[in-house]
Amino acid sequence: MRLSKTLIPTLKEAPAEAEIPSHILMVRGGYLRKVAAGVYSFLPIGWRVIQKISRIIREEMNRAGAQEVFLPAVIPGELWQESGRWDQYGEQLLRFKDRKGADFVIGPTHEEVIVDLVRGDVRSYRQLPLNLYQIQSKFRDELRARAGLMRGREFIMKDAYSFHATDEDARREYQNMYDTYTRIFGRCGLAFRAVEADTGAIGGSLSHEFQVLTETGEDALLACDACTYAANVEEAKARPPVSAPPSSAAFEKVATPGKKTIEEVTAFLGLKPENLVKTLIYLADGKPIAALVRGDRNLNEIKLKRALQARELVLAADKAVEDATGAPVGFAGPVGLRIPIYCDLEICALSSFVCGANAADAHYKNVVAKRDFAPTECGDFRDAAVGDACPRCEKGHFAGYRGVEVGQVFFLGTKYSAPMKCNFLDGDGKEKPMIMGCYGIGVTRIAAAAIEQNHDKDGIVWPVAIAPFEVALVSLQVGDAQVSEVAERLYAELEKAGIEVLYDERDERPGVKFKDADLIGLPYRIAVGKKGVAEGVVELKARRSPEVLKVKIEDVVRVVSEKVVAERAGGGR
Ligand code: ATP
Ligand code: MG
Repeated sequence: MRLSKTLIPTLKEAPAEAEIPSHILMVRGGYLRKVAAGVYSFLPIGWRVIQKISRIIREEMNRAGAQEVFLPAVIPGELWQESGRWDQYGEQLLRFKDRKGADFVIGPTHEEVIVDLVRGDVRSYRQLPLNLYQIQSKFRDELRARAGLMRGREFIMKDAYSFHATDEDARREYQNMYDTYTRIFGRCGLAFRAVEADTGAIGGSLSHEFQVLTETGEDALLACDACTYAANVEEAKARPPVSAPPSSAAFEKVATPGKKTIEEVTAFLGLKPENLVKTLIYLADGKPIAALVRGDRNLNEIKLKRALQARELVLAADKAVEDATGAPVGFAGPVGLRIPIYCDLEICALSSFVCGANAADAHYKNVVAKRDFAPTECGDFRDAAVGDACPRCEKGHFAGYRGVEVGQVFFLGTKYSAPMKCNFLDGDGKEKPMIMGCYGIGVTRIAAAAIEQNHDKDGIVWPVAIAPFEVALVSLQVGDAQVSEVAERLYAELEKAGIEVLYDERDERPGVKFKDADLIGLPYRIAVGKKGVAEGVVELKARRSPEVLKVKIEDVVRVVSEKVVAERAGGGR
């Protein structure tokens, strides 16, 4: 492609709202333009990247035995009512009515549509298993749509759904998809890690996320330094604590005038945060509950929500806290509290602790769980933390990472097939619900994640497998007949060799061209200049390395082709 014939509007400055490298560089590099918050247009080179990623995904999904379909983006609300998610999904679901007043949604994920399709046409165990996938735009009305393609409202996803006659077969396919994802992300040139995950709004019982490791990642991950256990903090299990013998001293009230926060109370009473207990008041589906964790811990709302089997869990507003505790905010505690009390395991293992006294300006000390109050449930309700002993191998400790979730696989069981009556007739003549799995990849998010891992101060450094073009050919003096003749010849030969080449034949200064080439970030650059042509050579440079090679004009197509072809299959980091 000739650069002057395409649209690559590079910019010197990034838009003010762009904060992370992938967002800044995709806008500056002429890949992407914003249409609305979280909604983007892809320019030619941006779309080429998405197509390259899609091609890798298609090749690997097809190889794994899945079939490509294409489902509608606009989905009747009825199907979402039938699955129960019309009420559960919340504000992220974009709903609207058609001219007849019927409810519709723009699909944020497609379990309902695919289940509806399969239950209509698949009746017998003989037609199973099936794995159907599509690559399509999704819409989620994300509250904080920022960071460009990393978290869009409209974004492209590959979503696959599998249907099975037996649990065993569904588990085999889960592993098949897990392996397929490992190949896909490897071919895209990403450094990633699969971690155990929460099943979120999709539901089900077993799930892994594929996380690209990068400092700008939104997700906090914990991985054992001795075994293979790794999990999202949302899900990571905390190792049960060792119980201390309960204190025999009776609890007593102490004055803590105006001391509300952990810092204030610990400083005032001369305590460590782990001896003070936080009592948080939540509304679970509108009803108040208390949740207790040590002062140095974070409460894990996902674990608590799961234990409560609540649809919605929100921190109570000040008024609701005062109603539940009879005290101003900052002095809540479990003693005498008449709402359900959920204690993290560590609370029940403490010999005694300090907590709010449900009265203004007062705390209790020497409180013992189960003696001074009755927990409704003791469970793992805190975030596991860096340095914690591993709950799996009990030898190693957790190290912390940050990641970007580029894919997730779920074992669904009958979560959708049972309520939606997606049944089949088994070999024994009995009607049974199909066992399902679902498997998502953030296609547009892969592009952003790849840039987070592959860039420098000058621009993007694409892996060959997903670069928009493989080689940048730069003519340094377009006015010079000999330079132009060599550049044109190399352009034709590279194209003939099947190399994807972006030929910069604009009448611009070499400095401008080199800056643009670095910003756009193609893996190899061939520069044709007057001095070199006189000596019979051109300059070859890999974007990843500072080294500039002088290569004979007649050799350069072969040399660069060999490098590109070797790296094209992917995985070359
Ligand atoms: P997140 O936790 O990041 O919101 P999710 O777990 O809700 O994502 P899934 O339902 O698992 O997302 O969707 C499958 C894949 O789609 C994710 O692994 C992610 O790569 C991608 N994805 C999800 N939401 C977005 C978004 N808002 N923008 C871009 N990609 C997204
Ligand atoms: Mg997910």
